Amino acid sequence: MIELLMPVRLSDAVIDGLSSRYRLHRLWEAPDAEALLEEIAPRVRAIVTSAGILANGAVLRIDGPFMARFPKLELVANLGVGYDTVDAAWAAAHGIIVTNTPDVLTEETADTAFGLLLNTVRQFPAAERYLRAGQWLQAPFPLTATLRGRRLGILGLGRIGKAIARRAEAFGLTIAYCGRSPQAGVAYAYFATPRALAKACDILLVAAPGGDQTRHLVDADVLEALGPDGFLINIARGSLIDEAALIAALRSQAIAGAGLDVFAREPEVPADLLACDNAVLLPHLGSATHATRLAMAELLIENVDAWATGGEPLTRVSECVLAPLPEQ
Ligand code: NAP
Repeated sequence: MIELLMPVRLSDAVIDGLSSRYRLHRLWEAPDAEALLEEIAPRVRAIVTSAGILANGAVLRIDGPFMARFPKLELVANLGVGYDTVDAAWAAAHGIIVTNTPDVLTEETADTAFGLLLNTVRQFPAAERYLRAGQWLQAPFPLTATLRGRRLGILGLGRIGKAIARRAEAFGLTIAYCGRSPQAGVAYAYFATPRALAKACDILLVAAPGGDQTRHLVDADVLEALGPDGFLINIARGSLIDEAALIAALRSQAIAGAGLDVFAREPEVPADLLACDNAVLLPHLGSATHATRLAMAELLIENVDAWATGGEPLTRVSECVLAPLPEQ
């Protein structure tokens, strides 16, 4: 039986779907994780993973030194489209395939992003707390900012960014974007830097991948450009934002508010951020519905099954995409 390692607990759908056909080693249940790794390392051929915290409290990183412990490793199957905790470049250089679960979560995550955007600009969570606290009996809830006539800047116009843009068009927002280069066939205005995009928009929405390449792409300078009427929405990864600079900007009202689904050290959220009334904070809900999490589990299992039977996994990450065969 092919042996797989699961370092952090994934959903029952993933565990049940794999356990019947593979020998699944559950690292999070091991009384001595190091001893288990030592014992199984020579036999493990695939790692099934997602962003998570290990039993010892450390952030899980499937990096080069970790993958190098498994001489027979051929596959790292990631649950989720974002695979910033996996060193995919190292894996590709060592002949290891990395897969993720794109597309099946795009629309769900865009729904979450747009809900977060509305809640942040219109302050619906604060308004609901106001009603429940009986304050409406004393006075109406204060008026808020509006989406009318606003410009949305999307930092990372990929699958999810485009799905958010479609929703924003229906709401009458003007859309601009920033990426590493302008995209052919995209009519939205392009800005080459996050700062230029922030300067040109009222709501800056972050939907680019996490990882070293994009660390602190949104810093104090970008927030200053967004300005006191501007809102920041982050649906991507906490690492893209300089969280200390964001807290300072929220406190001093250098920006009007922020809506955050992701944080630098999840699930910990800094007390200083919790204390900011002008922030709407969600516990990483982007794709978190029964239907979408099941679709992600099924895609992950299809990837593992395809590899295990000598076929081609459905969704390799870009670093591991095979080069096209030369023309005959
Ligand atoms: P995608 O299709 O690969 O899109 C990513 C976009 O980011 C691309 O358009 C890319 O454009 C842009 N980008 C890459 N590097 C950049 C950089 N240095 N500066 C600016 N833009 C850059 O990925 P996706 O499926 O839309 O997912 C995006 C991210 O959302 C994932 O990586 C994941 O971390 C996050 N996510 C979060 C949740 C959640 O629960 N909150 C759920 C799903 C996904 P260029 O190549 O033109 O630069």
